[in-house]
Amino acid sequence: TDAIRPLIAGNWKMNGLKAQAAEFDAMLNGAADVAGKADLLVCPPATLIAAFAEKARGKKAAVGAQDCHPKVSGAHTGDIAAEMLTDAGATAIIVGHSERRADHGESDILVKQKAEAAWRAGVTAIVCIGETQAQRDAGQTLEILRGQLNLSLPDASTAANLIVAYEPVWAIGTGLTPTAKDVEQIHGFIRELLTSRFKDEGARMRILYGGSVKPSNAAELMAVKNVNGALVGGASLKAADFLAIAKGC
Ligand code: PEP
Repeated sequence: TDAIRPLIAGNWKMNGLKAQAAEFDAMLNGAADVAGKADLLVCPPATLIAAFAEKARGKKAAVGAQDCHPKVSGAHTGDIAAEMLTDAGATAIIVGHSERRADHGESDILVKQKAEAAWRAGVTAIVCIGETQAQRDAGQTLEILRGQLNLSLPDASTAANLIVAYEPVWAIGTGLTPTAKDVEQIHGFIRELLTSRFKDEGARMRILYGGSVKPSNAAELMAVKNVNGALVGGASLKAADFLAIAKGC
């Protein structure tokens, strides 16, 4: 599994106006330098996907989306279908981010439907899982992750169509990270579950770590067994930080 090519994915969350396009240009300019180490994916707000995808054409970085609706079209005011995101140029869609699970009450079943919607539109789903601080304190981390993986990952998941992002909720945007030892234990646990359910596909599936990844801790985290890249929030807004993280792979 150590030969899996790393992916550094940036989640801009609800940040970014057209004026930030220059930051994305800087990422594209540096992308060729890190292409030997990792794949790069930037997930801006939906409003910027089309413009960024246009800029990224022929460059060493791809553009993704942060969420999608499970249905292809219909009476769902304000929602965006996976097909609309891919039409705009998205090549991957994050689903089940903890902020969506918390802010919008998204269930594991809905997350699974969203992953299938990404496939229906022809792109990879990045499925996020992770325990809260309270669940961690109660010693429930592995049980929570097992439940989320069982219910949020479709049976037809493969190494090509699905990426798992392990993001401990207490580490997101807090500056706190688990120790490398904890990350190794948890990613090893996730790998075991993926391999037992999806066999060889599970053995080759990327497992990203997310939660306060920054240039100063990226190399240590990315060196951990079964860590196949990162999902980066805050530090993905600055080209210099995002590229430095990728160089740490
Ligand atoms: C995230 O929310 O996906 C994330 C990892 O955020 P941050 O890097 O800001 O902790």
